[in-house]
Amino acid sequence: MFVGHYAASLALKRFENRVSLGVLFLAVQFVDILFFPLVLLGIERVNIVESFTQSTHFELEYMPFTHSLVASTLWAIAAYGLFRWVVVKKQSVAIVVALAVFSHWLLDLMVHTPDLPLWSDTSVKLGFGLWNNAIATYALEAVILLAALWVYLRSTSPMTAVGKYGMTVFVIFLLLANIANIFGPFQGDSKVVMAISALASYFVFAAVAYWLDTKRR
Ligand SMILES: [Zn+2]
Repeated sequence: MFVGHYAASLALKRFENRVSLGVLFLAVQFVDILFFPLVLLGIERVNIVESFTQSTHFELEYMPFTHSLVASTLWAIAAYGLFRWVVVKKQSVAIVVALAVFSHWLLDLMVHTPDLPLWSDTSVKLGFGLWNNAIATYALEAVILLAALWVYLRSTSPMTAVGKYGMTVFVIFLLLANIANIFGPFQGDSKVVMAISALASYFVFAAVAYWLDTKRR
């Protein structure tokens, strides 16, 4: 899943307005932000296979440290610890950031083919496989993102014109980007190009979300 993860960011902001949306945008993609460098280091493994599913070209072979249930839980606990005792130091902020980190696994579970391990054991892997249907994948991500946008817009109020319209325009941009992501032609990019473009989008999207969030209260 790609832009659908940001549904968790927008919805969770409602429960704790002291946490920046930029932080929540990074938190929901945290395990993917780790995944790409680990792939380049050869620690986790993905094979690029054209049309492996209708929605992706990834055969996700081995990713216990980022996308297993155990690792996702441990990363969420680590995020809790960081925001509880090191930065911000607020229990409610720590809980919201931890939930954002863990939400990645739950949403990936909907779309991935059975490639999400419980831990390093490769015999049991989970994934409901929505990626095999590109239209259903796109629809799921769009519906949850729009629903979460609605929650976010209702739970915050604009301070400027940018604050009023910016987040809606940004979500529309994300939905358009996801058309290219899911339905676009196979580029045959190398893993390095794939990693750089994914990481660049995660950080740029988080920066935009941070900035737009400062225009609302
Ligand atoms: Zn992922």
